[in-house]
Amino acid sequence: MVGDFEREVTGIMVYYYVICQRKLWYFYHNINMEQNNEDVQIGKMIDENTYKREDKHINIDNVISIDFIKSKNILNEVKKSKKIEEASILQVKYYLYYLQKKGVHLKAKIDYPLLKDCVEVELKDEDILEIEKIVKDLKEVVKLKFPPKIEKKGYCKKCAFYDLCFI
Ligand code: SF4
Repeated sequence: MVGDFEREVTGIMVYYYVICQRKLWYFYHNINMEQNNEDVQIGKMIDENTYKREDKHINIDNVISIDFIKSKNILNEVKKSKKIEEASILQVKYYLYYLQKKGVHLKAKIDYPLLKDCVEVELKDEDILEIEKIVKDLKEVVKLKFPPKIEKKGYCKKCAFYDLCFI
C-alpha cells in the first residue's frame, strides 16, 4: 500500500534497488512484466536445470529464496551473467545479513554456469552498515506515490519494463 511499508524487504528488492529504483517501485506495486521477457525466461531455465542433485531450495519467511548446498554448508545463487554483479552480490549479502540476524552464520557462492565461473560471498562488518542503509533508503523509494524518474542505463534495453518506461 502506498504510504506504508508493510512488506518484509526481500533479496530481490535489494537487487532491484541497486539496478534501478524505478524497477523496484514497479515490483513493489505489483506491476509485473517479467514473465514474457526473454532474459527472465533464460534465467528460469538455468535455475531449473542446474545443480539438480546437490540443491535444496530454501525459503525463509518469503524473504530468502535460495539454494542451499548441504555438503558444503553454503548458500548458492545461480546467475546468468556478470553484467550486474554488484546487485547480485548485494542480494546475496542481504540473505546472509537476514540469516545472521536470526543467529545463522553462513557463507555464499554465486555461480555463473554459462560462464563456468563463480564468486564467493562473505558478510563483513562494513557490509552490514551498507545493507542497513540500503534497506532504509529502499523503504523510502517504495513509499513514493509515483515511480522514481527514469534514469536511462545500458541495462534498460534488456529490462522487462522498457516499453513501460520508454514507449
Ligand atoms: S527500463 Fe530502465 S528505467 Fe525503466 S525500469 Fe527498466 S531499468 Fe529502470
